[in-house]
Amino acid sequence: MAENVIAIDGPAASGKSTIAGMVADRLGIPYINTGNMYRAVTLHAMRQGLDLSECSEDKLAPVLKQIKLDYVKTASGQYEIMLNGEFPGAKIRTPEVASFVSLVAALPNVRTWLIDKQREFARLGRIVMEGRDIGTVIFPGAQYKFFLTASPEERAKRRLAQDGEAPDGATVESIAKAIAERDLLDSTRKTAPLKKADDAILIDTSGMSIEQVIEHILRYIK
Ligand code: C5P
Repeated sequence: MAENVIAIDGPAASGKSTIAGMVADRLGIPYINTGNMYRAVTLHAMRQGLDLSECSEDKLAPVLKQIKLDYVKTASGQYEIMLNGEFPGAKIRTPEVASFVSLVAALPNVRTWLIDKQREFARLGRIVMEGRDIGTVIFPGAQYKFFLTASPEERAKRRLAQDGEAPDGATVESIAKAIAERDLLDSTRKTAPLKKADDAILIDTSGMSIEQVIEHILRYIK
């Protein structure tokens, strides 16, 4: 079933979600954002009052038993994550969730719990799946693999633009720092670290427009 999958991996704020969503739209196929699963687990753990600055598998094990994650097809035809019957929407995109999510995602029991859920999506038929380890661990046999990067400064500016904020020097610097911290945690963890698959196509999107990146990707896809 891996032949159904177009894998798009890359570091935080590299434009993966926007690009993956638009590539899927152009191809008329579903798009699954796997980062939202890790964010939903983190949000639920925060709501339970857990101190996530000290994360451990023992601490998260009971939390995983309380969580039901679903992806529901919305009116737009795309799939949206549901956490225990609720669309968490913007609640999983807060800076607080972002600051803890990499600690939660580094735990092997959390990753194991999500692997089957992620692999099940290949049953939907052709899909675009976006994350950190899709091309390396979840679907090493994916039909197409892309790894998107951009400079930390460019990524910080994009993140600000996405949130509708002006890119002044100090804010760009503090956001670039938070992004770099998350990348470091994601790329140095033992289980399924952020890493380009050997056979993935590397695209440095610095200085490229969204349209240029999409066209570049679509040129590879038959
Ligand atoms: O893609 P996004 O930035 O929303 O992902 C949030 C976090 O979830 C990442 O920083 C990473 O720690 C984790 N993640 C992961 N594996 C994936 C997708 C996301 O570890 N496939």
